[in-house]
Amino acid sequence: MSCLFCRIVDGEIPATVVHETKTTLAFRDIHPKAPVHVLIIPREHVPNAVDLDGDQLGDLFAAAKEIAEAEGVSETGYRLLFNTGPDSGQEVFHAHLHLLGGTRL
Ligand code: ADP
Repeated sequence: MSCLFCRIVDGEIPATVVHETKTTLAFRDIHPKAPVHVLIIPREHVPNAVDLDGDQLGDLFAAAKEIAEAEGVSETGYRLLFNTGPDSGQEVFHAHLHLLGGTRL
């Protein structure tokens, strides 16, 4: 299997997992761009965020809310971001929601 994030889901590549549900997995970004930088992904391989269905999007955002609370940024605020397609800078083609916080962005 060549998809990096599928390999993390399958436990073949280590990651610092901070949250998981039946349908989602969340782990710390290996090159954090803020004190809190978590990637939230669907367990199922979907290349781009725009291809996620409503249930998948709902699950990612519900996870984001719980992670923000656990990371202590729900009061101070945080950024949720999808990069979609080459011009956005997307490098990993397994949809992932960035959660960035812990500083003034
Ligand atoms: P960008 O690199 O422009 O943010 P993406 O939106 O595709 O593009 O984000 C991919 C993210 O995955 C990057 O922030 C990168 O640091 C992170 N990343 C790459 N490999 C790993 C890994 N093995 N574990 C955790 N995060 C990773």
